[in-house]
Amino acid sequence: MNILILGSGGREHTFAYKIAQSSKCSKLYVAPGNAGTAEIAENLHLNPIDFPAVGKAALDKDISMIVVGPEDPLVKGIVDFFANDEQLKDIQIIGPSSRGALLEGSKERAKEFMAMHKIPTAAYESFSFESLGAGKKFLETLEPPYVLKADGLAAGKGVLIIDDLEEAKKELENMLSGKFGAASEKVVIEEFLDGIELSVFVLTDGKNYKILPTAKDYKRIGEGDTGLNTGGMGAVSPVPFADEELMAKIEDRIVKPTVEGLKEEEIDYKGFIFIGLIKVKGEPFVIEYNVRMGDPETEVVLPRIKTDLVELLENTWNGTLDKISLDIDERAATTVMMVSGGYPESYEKGKVISGINDIEDSIVFHAGTKKENGNIVTSGGRVIALTSFGEDYNKALKKSYQSAEKLQFDKMYFRKDIGFDLS
Ligand code: ATP
Repeated sequence: MNILILGSGGREHTFAYKIAQSSKCSKLYVAPGNAGTAEIAENLHLNPIDFPAVGKAALDKDISMIVVGPEDPLVKGIVDFFANDEQLKDIQIIGPSSRGALLEGSKERAKEFMAMHKIPTAAYESFSFESLGAGKKFLETLEPPYVLKADGLAAGKGVLIIDDLEEAKKELENMLSGKFGAASEKVVIEEFLDGIELSVFVLTDGKNYKILPTAKDYKRIGEGDTGLNTGGMGAVSPVPFADEELMAKIEDRIVKPTVEGLKEEEIDYKGFIFIGLIKVKGEPFVIEYNVRMGDPETEVVLPRIKTDLVELLENTWNGTLDKISLDIDERAATTVMMVSGGYPESYEKGKVISGINDIEDSIVFHAGTKKENGNIVTSGGRVIALTSFGEDYNKALKKSYQSAEKLQFDKMYFRKDIGFDLS
């Protein structure tokens, strides 16, 4: 079948890499893609949130399956758009309906869902500008640090963690006054949870589910998890502290009630759920839901899946995930992200990347790259993820770092301490 992947990052290159290996895939398209996806698929000049254009391309190219990489098209309703169109409704589009995508699109909704289905998460209350006074009073009842979250999508910048009460009150007012535009018309204030984070990925057809490999990502730009937040500087899978006991708690208390909750609420959900978790004194709590795979976690999770990815996704669409077994590579996988100097603040683009062909021990996943005059050049903040396998994460990391030595572009930067908090 012909398959289309929507998105342009390292996540989408990884999907393309896995899907291209499937004997079920005859022709692969990525929209808009990057220089890496261009090597294994045909890139289409399409904006994933221009649904009529995506629909037209799907018909023109005889597409049977669409994998939606980023959250934006999902939250804006791409799955509903396809479901409601006579010509498009039979295309297997992997992702939740907009009602399902609200679990990521609204933090208030996610918290209400968890409360309703008794899923462990931090205590919270939600406020609007009209209830600013009550919000300030609620802050006074909490212990520092204070966690303020813009309700809507804010490109990963909508969460503030503040030590000082007066500053927290001021920021609450700023947020409710439009600091993040419509995204912070409502603000969720929640109890701070002190622990170690991990991510669990679930593939569900709306009633059955498969738990995919766990991963831990490293979001800050600086070593030792310092400095500004980024899209992610590296990741490790599996998470060494996610032992059987913890995973059993996560499955019983979080994954099962989440899928049951979707079913009970009759939410059409055929896709990935990315559950951001924090382990506090041995107990798992949900920090957030995302309704798609993470980036760079995808770069370590998908390569460890040995089951044919297209078959898994077909079973997801058909509601038969219980009929297929999930085979996972026992080895650890790590990825280290090469970024443009200056990122996540301002940085230059158009730098020629060299050394890609010298890399033997890692898989090179492109993110912000494009082809220009026969060269591969940088076109974004996060540029290339180097994924490696090893008997354990240290051995895998060693390969990712050896590969990083071979890669070059002006002002290239990467964190040298991915996995630092795991030993
Ligand atoms: P992302 O970019 O990961 O999608 P987001 O903007 O959707 O982030 P969250 O994941 O909810 O927001 O929060 C961002 C980060 O803030 C978390 O990864 C975690 O480190 C921290 N955080 C969020 N909520 C809490 C909490 N209740 N206690 C402690 N830390 C928290």
